[in-house]
Amino acid sequence: PKRHLARGNLAAFSGDKLQAMVERDERQINSLIRLVEDMLDVSRIRTGKLSLRPKAFDLGLLVRGLVENFAAQASALDTHIELQRCEPLLGEWDEFRIEQVLANLLSNALRYGERKPVQVRVFEQDGLACVQVQDHGIGICVANQQRIFQQFERVATQQASGGLGLGLYISEQIVQAHGGRILVESEEGKGATFTLQLPLATYEQQNDQARATSA
Ligand code: ADP
Repeated sequence: PKRHLARGNLAAFSGDKLQAMVERDERQINSLIRLVEDMLDVSRIRTGKLSLRPKAFDLGLLVRGLVENFAAQASALDTHIELQRCEPLLGEWDEFRIEQVLANLLSNALRYGERKPVQVRVFEQDGLACVQVQDHGIGICVANQQRIFQQFERVATQQASGGLGLGLYISEQIVQAHGGRILVESEEGKGATFTLQLPLATYEQQNDQARATSA
């Protein structure tokens, strides 16, 4: 394309071709942005400067919006995301960071889900806010289930479309900073279910509890 441009040969660029080029550039720019943001997050975590800005919001509403945002990405893969259960769950968390975690789980479910529908559930269990993302793709063997949460750890795959293996590491750090956790249940070849659990109590309530137990 550069050579055509240099020669002033604009006829070589049909509308379709231009569209495809712009889309490819956009994808590459977005993956560079993601890479830079991930690397910044890793250095924030290393220096203990991953600060949270908690405010009250409804987790159910956040998930509903995200599932809608991922609809186009899912249909580009000929599949879809089903929001099977969505309770309103009010809590105090860092909305931007929790959105980052959920977006990572959803894009992994699509990336490794072998184009099969993905199920999402939002519910309360034992005083915890839970979001489950279930896919029916390649799955993860037990030996790798802890490894994938470490930096740069990726299970070898044929696909070159994956990232650097930082997403789950960053996600787990964010969730742990909220006093929550991410659980994984999976069998190789049988899909994977990731469950995000967050404490429902407000920070003040948690501090009260901490003071009560240390007194
Ligand atoms: P990546 O950018 O490589 O996807 P992640 O930290 O998000 O980085 O994931 C780490 C690795 O965990 C992935 O490379 C993949 O091998 C595995 N993994 C994550 N989610 C899934 C899933 N839903 N099904 C199967 N494997 C997964």
